[in-house]
Amino acid sequence: MRAAVEPGRAAVSVAEDDTLVGGFPAQTEADEAEEVVSLRLRLDRMTALDKLKSDFMNLTTHELRSPLAIVYGYLSMMESGMLGELSPELREAVASSIQSVELMTQLVSELVEMARLDETRLDLTREPVDLAEVVAEAGVRVESSDRHQLRLDLAASPAPVLGDRGQLLRVFGNIVDNAVKYSPAGGEIGIRMRRSGRQVAVDITDPGLGIAPSDMDRLFTRFGRIVTAANEGIGGTGLGLYLCRELVRRLGGDITATSVEGRGSTFTVRLPAAHRVAAARTQG
Ligand code: ADP
Repeated sequence: MRAAVEPGRAAVSVAEDDTLVGGFPAQTEADEAEEVVSLRLRLDRMTALDKLKSDFMNLTTHELRSPLAIVYGYLSMMESGMLGELSPELREAVASSIQSVELMTQLVSELVEMARLDETRLDLTREPVDLAEVVAEAGVRVESSDRHQLRLDLAASPAPVLGDRGQLLRVFGNIVDNAVKYSPAGGEIGIRMRRSGRQVAVDITDPGLGIAPSDMDRLFTRFGRIVTAANEGIGGTGLGLYLCRELVRRLGGDITATSVEGRGSTFTVRLPAAHRVAAARTQG
């Protein structure tokens, strides 16, 4: 079938008729002004909705924290036998309730953190921190599992970076916890710190379930839980890696991952070495 307008002819008629631009009627100043007003209105509405969402989130998370702490407190007392001897069935029920409350508490605290990040309310102190020390402290979490062993290589230490020690510990703790959690068969969790140009890089390697290539782009997204047949029973919120990467990016670094499904994963955290950050600041 022939095109209604031949490409060469269309170009000529557009050039000849100044009410047409690219085949569409040209926009007048009045049209443009109207469009700007409508865009501004839409932006105002979206900002108001966003504020409403943040207020709602702050309120609910705040209101959820106290009752959760009370439930956790009572369950812990029951587990320790302080409220009387428990039958084996009840002991099992209490243990599984504690696990659920822990997951809910984690979700609430991650939601609070996410709201803070969104509102850029999160204050990150930037002081010299020895990353080797933080990484070693995070690695201790592997030892709480009797199926996993830790291989720690901190040959590049000391490795000063500028950051917030508490937040960095959270980031590495989270990635190490994931390495253990998603390696249910056990095995060796490797943590290696190295210099990479002007950055310090830390590779956290696990021999676990791995991630399919098609799921890799969801890893660091909000609520990016990837549920597969292999990890179905493993609890999580899907917020941990999103928060980790946001925090690391705010410190001028990044987190990347490589993985082979069924064989394991490596998460690499890169942060600018402290002397470089300090030099850049002096120049700026
Ligand atoms: P979650 O709370 O679900 O663990 P994360 O944000 O920490 O949330 O991780 C997002 C998803 O990435 C997880 O649901 C899991 O499927 C996958 N994932 C994260 N770390 C690993 C890992 N070390 N091995 C395999 N899959 C992982």
